[in-house]
Amino acid sequence: MNIYPIIFLVFFVCPVVGLSMITLATRSARPGRCGICHYDMRGLPRFARCPECGTGRHPGSRGLAIRSRLMLNLGIMIFMTPFIIALVGLLVLLVLPALR
Ligand SMILES: [Zn+2]
Repeated sequence: MNIYPIIFLVFFVCPVVGLSMITLATRSARPGRCGICHYDMRGLPRFARCPECGTGRHPGSRGLAIRSRLMLNLGIMIFMTPFIIALVGLLVLLVLPALR
């Protein structure tokens, strides 16, 4: 079995996907921006609809904040996966000779 596609997937795709999700989550969490289309809503009344996409909720409202936080946490977990796998691998390599 060829292990290189799996190594590529874990050590290259995971950090890229994780960083993309972190960037998207923090971008949509930016204050004063629409959480869906990122339209600049500064100067509009607090609970006004987005003039660009018609989203009813203000970017500071609970639903969008929770969605952004979920995406941020998932992004961090995906980004950290290769580092955790590498750390576990290193610990196994260090512990295995001691078990013999
Ligand atoms: Zn919008």
